[in-house]
Amino acid sequence: MSDQSNKYAIVFGSLNMDLVATVPRLPLPGETILGDRLLTIPGGKGANQAVALAKLGVPTAIVGRVGADSFGTALCEQLATAGVEITAIASDDSVASGVALIAVDTQGENQIIVIPGANGQVGQPDLDRLISRLPQANFLLLQLEIPLAAVGAAAQAAHQQGVQVVLDPAPVRAPLPLDLYPLVDILTPNAIEASQLAGFPVTDQKSAIAAAQTLCDRGVQTVIVTLGGAGIVWATAAGTIGQLAAYPVTAIDTVAAGDAFNGGLVAALVDGLPLETALRWGMAAGALATTQVGAQASLPDRAAVQTLLDSVR
Ligand code: ADP
Repeated sequence: MSDQSNKYAIVFGSLNMDLVATVPRLPLPGETILGDRLLTIPGGKGANQAVALAKLGVPTAIVGRVGADSFGTALCEQLATAGVEITAIASDDSVASGVALIAVDTQGENQIIVIPGANGQVGQPDLDRLISRLPQANFLLLQLEIPLAAVGAAAQAAHQQGVQVVLDPAPVRAPLPLDLYPLVDILTPNAIEASQLAGFPVTDQKSAIAAAQTLCDRGVQTVIVTLGGAGIVWATAAGTIGQLAAYPVTAIDTVAAGDAFNGGLVAALVDGLPLETALRWGMAAGALATTQVGAQASLPDRAAVQTLLDSVR
């Protein structure tokens, strides 16, 4: 059983280097075009959510895997600079670091190729490092950019030790194994993910609540469906439901809004705040992330979240 005085989060997930080419238009099959510039940006949902937590002042470790290459070194350095504990990242000399190749045209339309690399090799040795750290943690934050078997085993180990499990089911892989749901305390799908997991369209608040209830019926304690600029809805296994409108901000780039939401939510829960307060923290962090360009660079710090929360009281 974890010591409830612990205030420590672990993220078990992916680290990617995003190679972003800005191009006048997307190339056709077989065509070569000239791009305008190349940006090399640290990403991966695991890394982004770890940075979101660390920026909010939560002691956070990430457990994951990179290649023994320059991208791996850069990814680790960036996380350390953001304040994330990185000693449980393995450097694997048999595989390359995870990479996303992204082409973005002037209309904002994109093409993305993700090569999971080391993220796809996450397995037992990584689980062993995770399990040895669970006694110090009170929250484990998971996503689906590493093998599903590893996600399931991590959730099982944390559940057994009384560590709260939060799963952001992105990128969605439906159906999820039915025995995963009862191991999850909080599930945080967006509308598309909720729809694919529940098996029916999620088009508005009402259908989002129905999807949340369906997923609670599979054994999750609390399901929160994030609806972008339309805020969130949630349902609990105890039968309560709720919804909150998004904070009004001028959104310019919604990349990493979901990562910020998960970071804000878990940061508040690690601090012992009640669910509804934690939901506001997640929404404020998500809203602020949309006001800045980029992924990790757009994630807000604690003062910014506090200021937004205070301004709308
Ligand atoms: P994802 O990036 O996973 O698709 P969402 O787009 O649903 O996640 O965003 C997560 C949360 O961030 C939302 O529930 C909302 O609280 C906040 N958010 C996202 N977009 C906006 C927006 N345009 N205005 C205000 N808040 C937003």
